[in-house]
Amino acid sequence: MSPDEILEILMAGNKRFVENKRTNPNVSFARLTEVATGQNPFASIVSCADSRVPVEIIFDRGLGDLFVIREAGNITTPEEIGSIEFGTLVLGSKVLMVLGHENCGVVKASMDGKPVPGQIGSIIAAIKPGVEAAKGQPGNPVENAVKANVFQQIKILNSSPVISQLVK
Ligand SMILES: [Zn+2]
Repeated sequence: MSPDEILEILMAGNKRFVENKRTNPNVSFARLTEVATGQNPFASIVSCADSRVPVEIIFDRGLGDLFVIREAGNITTPEEIGSIEFGTLVLGSKVLMVLGHENCGVVKASMDGKPVPGQIGSIIAAIKPGVEAAKGQPGNPVENAVKANVFQQIKILNSSPVISQLVK
């Protein structure tokens, strides 16, 4: 499958999800047996850890289809980049997607700029450049920041020699 065909599959699955017409492909026990010995996920997706954005469900896919990296704020720190390099270079995903979502709590927290406990601050810091880039843009400020954060994470991914070579 070409990257365009894969993207079409993903968007068609998301359309089914939005229209409440999921077909739940590749979730059978037979499929589990099929992929137990190896995987060839056709897309690698970086998404937020938000419990309302379960990637396989929102794209209506199943076992062995998607290599998913989830982290609050869909950020790309070295460990995530390594995971993505594994999903693309090693496992052969032909589509790499960074997925933001509406009302992202950690993006909002980054916009608020209030102190946060524990290691949450490291996530806030990773989102900050996107939030800064979106400041002053017309429209919904949270939506703008979510989008700017996605583009910021894509920029970081492109700085990986492995990924930029695969993109070429
Ligand atoms: Zn989120």
